[in-house]
Amino acid sequence: MVSKRLGDVPESGTVAIANLVSQLKQEGVEIISFSMGEPDFDTPQNIKDACVRSLNDGFTHYTPSAGIPELRKAIAEKTERDNKIKCTAKNVLVTPTKHALFMIALAYLDPGDEVILPDPAWVSYEAVVRLAGATPVYVPTKFDDDFCMSADMIANAMTNKTKMLMLNSPSNPTGSVMHRDTLKGIADLCTDKNVTVMADEIYEHIIYEGEHVSIASFDGMFERTLTLSGLSKTYAMTGWRLGWLIAPEKDIAAVNKLQTHSVTCCTSFTQPAAIEALRGPQGSRIKMVNEFRKRRDLALDLLTEIKGIECNRPEGAFYLFPKYEQKISSDDMTMHLMKEAHVAVTPGRSFGPSGEGFFRLSYAASEENIIEGIGRIKRSLSKL
Ligand code: PMP
Ligand code: GLU
Repeated sequence: MVSKRLGDVPESGTVAIANLVSQLKQEGVEIISFSMGEPDFDTPQNIKDACVRSLNDGFTHYTPSAGIPELRKAIAEKTERDNKIKCTAKNVLVTPTKHALFMIALAYLDPGDEVILPDPAWVSYEAVVRLAGATPVYVPTKFDDDFCMSADMIANAMTNKTKMLMLNSPSNPTGSVMHRDTLKGIADLCTDKNVTVMADEIYEHIIYEGEHVSIASFDGMFERTLTLSGLSKTYAMTGWRLGWLIAPEKDIAAVNKLQTHSVTCCTSFTQPAAIEALRGPQGSRIKMVNEFRKRRDLALDLLTEIKGIECNRPEGAFYLFPKYEQKISSDDMTMHLMKEAHVAVTPGRSFGPSGEGFFRLSYAASEENIIEGIGRIKRSLSKL
């Protein structure tokens, strides 16, 4: 029998839909998928070449658990340059981003602790909070506020049990970006209330308007912030399972303890390739973001032509989060689109109670599939 802890946690809604899509594809159903949150581009050639070189050089054994020193240094340099967070290699733990989140929950949360989360939010935040025995506290956000939390909304959700605030900008599933003034207000609140922040910045480079701001860059915030990022989205490297945590040295030591008891270290031969990703030419990354911007505009134009659909214009990530007028649950809507239109999206409810009445569409898909898939959505919605 599985533990009560696991029994209380639902399966990942994003991964469940992705698994269903691959099963249907294997059965020969021709599905257009807007479900999985991953770039549809190939990993840039210079990064793949660096990986092959390291394999051929025999770099195939365990590495130091926190990552090879040169990669930790390259990540610290990138973090100082791009995120304006003052840090050194000692403030870096190399680990898959999702695993970093999991370890953070185990390292910092106890039963009784409360963790504040935006609603809607990416599926795994609530799951890891529950697995650690702590209590997720959702802050419902509004379509009209571009699904962003304000410092006041967070302050209203705080109690004397609040241990941590989880932030994600640009956001999965809404694509919204938190702006400097809002983040500054939240930073002041967390300092005042002595709350730890987990800032998931994995979409930091996929941004179309404005700037990406790291909350750890504000005065005094580094000491209380655990910043996550990684290669998956920026360099189309989801399958490589390589990301990192930036934190004060004592926190890196705490989380690394869990790393030594779980995966030991990240895959060895991908680590030199990660150095190439960070220090090598950045042209492919910039091209990819420009391509995503075009697709966002195309997908948004096509979707908002559909009667009964409303959608914000997200400033980042590669997701649209449209609202539909039909009075059916987002699970039923997803199944309707899957069966009638052979189009896969992710139900809004998977991302929290405020996601009901919405679905998530990942536009990391070809223009051709965007045109055909949204056309199918339009035709099948007219039948409801
Ligand atoms: N954070 C967010 C917001 C995500 O969408 C994802 C999805 N991949 C992750 C973390 C996990 O990233 P990775 O797959 O690189 O571990
Ligand atoms: N983050 C991606 C998504 O939201 C991949 C699946 C997952 O890790 O949840 O679709």
